[in-house]
Amino acid sequence: MDERITQDARHFIDTVKRFVRDECMPVEDSIEETGMLPEALVGKMKDMGLFGLRIPSEYGGAGMDLLDYCYALKELSKSHDAIRAIMSVNNGIGSMAIVNDGTEEQKRHYLPLLASGEYIASFALTEPGAGSDASAIATTAEKTDRGWLLNGMKHFITNAPVADVFTVIAVTDREKRARGGISAFIVEKGSRGLRIGSLHNTMGGKGWLQAEVIFEDCFVPDAGLLGGQGSGFKIAMKTLNEGRLSAAASAIGIGERLLSMGIEYAKLRKQFGKPISEFEAIQWMLADSATELYAADRMLSDTAYRFDHGEDIRTQSSMTKLFATESAFKIADRVLQLHGGMGFMKETKVERMFRDIRAYRIFEGTSEIQRFMIARELLKD
Ligand SMILES: Cc1cc2nc3c(=O)[nH]c(=O)nc-3n(C[C@H](O)[C@H](O)[C@H](O)COP(=O)(O)OP(=O)(O)OC[C@H]3O[C@@H](n4cnc5c(N)ncnc54)[C@H](O)[C@@H]3O)c2cc1C
Repeated sequence: MDERITQDARHFIDTVKRFVRDECMPVEDSIEETGMLPEALVGKMKDMGLFGLRIPSEYGGAGMDLLDYCYALKELSKSHDAIRAIMSVNNGIGSMAIVNDGTEEQKRHYLPLLASGEYIASFALTEPGAGSDASAIATTAEKTDRGWLLNGMKHFITNAPVADVFTVIAVTDREKRARGGISAFIVEKGSRGLRIGSLHNTMGGKGWLQAEVIFEDCFVPDAGLLGGQGSGFKIAMKTLNEGRLSAAASAIGIGERLLSMGIEYAKLRKQFGKPISEFEAIQWMLADSATELYAADRMLSDTAYRFDHGEDIRTQSSMTKLFATESAFKIADRVLQLHGGMGFMKETKVERMFRDIRAYRIFEGTSEIQRFMIARELLKD
């Protein structure tokens, strides 16, 4: 474990490891079958404070540094992806805008609810016409006497069907758009004119939900404006910047679990009279996977540490997300391959992890967008 991780965090990470082994792994299959997280498990997660690890302690959270948080998250990600998903949005894209840019009143109201897990958060940026190019969003917010009227539609929004509060990014000035014409809003479940549309039917990620979010003259009071009119694009980008490291941490956690499953199977499975671990082809799969995980892990700890010390990590965050998620996908493919036909069977869990990890190269900015941002930095004058 990285030497810069605090002693307190190390103890907590050990607790998370035990929780994953004793409480999460035994219910993985039922989550996959039912698409539901057991209520008792979510209750334990709340008791452990998992929903508020990144929320400052004065607002009821644990106030963890990003470095410490990423390593706790990495351990939690070793079990079913739905367990990671339900808590990571409250700690990341669903709360960060309020933590970073909320008014004192907004922080005092929402953050304790998010930290305890009483409220589930959601972050609504992506639209049918605006994915990688977030500046092209069409959802609008028009000023009225008492607040704002939102109109438009978001899609692929994680947690939408179960969310109590949304951070919504909308256009407030069509001329200025990303240059001061986009604003962020806090929108509560049950707001007039807010509707959850169709649930997306996904390839993986059972138990964590994506849906459309529809705004039809949805009224948001003035107190729901987040960070000042026109600052929404910057807020969204800052939120995603940090979110990319969380995605990397989870991908590394999944990759580490897959590698240990691969090692175990390679030692057990015999063909041509000996364990397949004795074949060089299999050894190289394991060696390449371990090497990539080591590199990704060092990138993660270095970037998170620099973030905690106030450095601009935009490019490193893109590099870490890109490398960690692409590596984890390659590892899933190799580990599935070394399982042979068993890798294709549901009972090994590898096929589930192979499907789940695929989304990581897409959400929080696709791999192509990470490369685009890294190259833009390299080529700037
Ligand atoms: C499981 C899941 C959960 C999600 N959760 C959320 C959420 O909670 N909130 C939210 O707001 N969004 C969420 N998203 C949306 C996600 O952020 C977008 O899917 C992602 O940003 C890509 O946008 P898109 O799907 O519209 O793809 P597009 O932008 O249409 O991209 C299509 C392809 O073109 C490539 N491409 C686009 N532009 C360029 C370029 N300039 N250079 C090179 N290639 C390019 C892309 O990399 C991709 O391969 C989620 C998505 C998934 C899959």
